[in-house]
Amino acid sequence: MFKDITHAALSVVFPNRCPFCDGIVGAREYYCPECAASLRYIESGTVEPPHGLSELYACCEYSGAARNAVHRLKNGSYGYTAEAFGVMMTEVVGENLRGYDILVPVPSSFESILRRGYAPAEYIAREISRRSGVRVVEAISASDEKEEQKRFRAAERIVNARRSFVLSGGKAVRGKKILLIDDICTTGATLSSCAELLRNAGAAEVGGAVFAKTVGSA
Ligand SMILES: [Zn+2]
Repeated sequence: MFKDITHAALSVVFPNRCPFCDGIVGAREYYCPECAASLRYIESGTVEPPHGLSELYACCEYSGAARNAVHRLKNGSYGYTAEAFGVMMTEVVGENLRGYDILVPVPSSFESILRRGYAPAEYIAREISRRSGVRVVEAISASDEKEEQKRFRAAERIVNARRSFVLSGGKAVRGKKILLIDDICTTGATLSSCAELLRNAGAAEVGGAVFAKTVGSA
């Protein structure tokens, strides 16, 4: 409730924008109804989880307006885009959020954080946390630095094709039921790598939630 008052109050100074079309929306809105209606929603709210995850929630297919919004998120318009994703993802996971102990954002590479100045998944996780009360733990970081990787034991890092993930909050994940948060899931390799790292660190269970999932050749 408090959050919504802030959202409305801020809109006087900074009009709220729809992340799907970049148009201005009402003080109490996060996106325009036309855009929301154009998304290709995933009926059940869940898709086949990648290896190592117990379940994967996804709001919609990665196409059309959803694709535009993900691009906005990655290219600087993180505030209102993350807010809208957070609203939709909280709705999709719904009551099941209560079953999770912590939210862990999928980290951006150090290089992309330098380039963008922020990590998109972290913003989404913070929005979901504000609405659900489930806390965010930045348990994983990503690195492109080969030298840095050598400092970590194999059990504390996972290297996949794109990034090298390093466990940075080991104690905080032990015995916990964890929901990994990201903007998009394509092959699922990134989520699988993160889940493996968390399970190696003693996580009880790892699920995931993304805004959009690629379907077919999208
Ligand atoms: Zn719109």
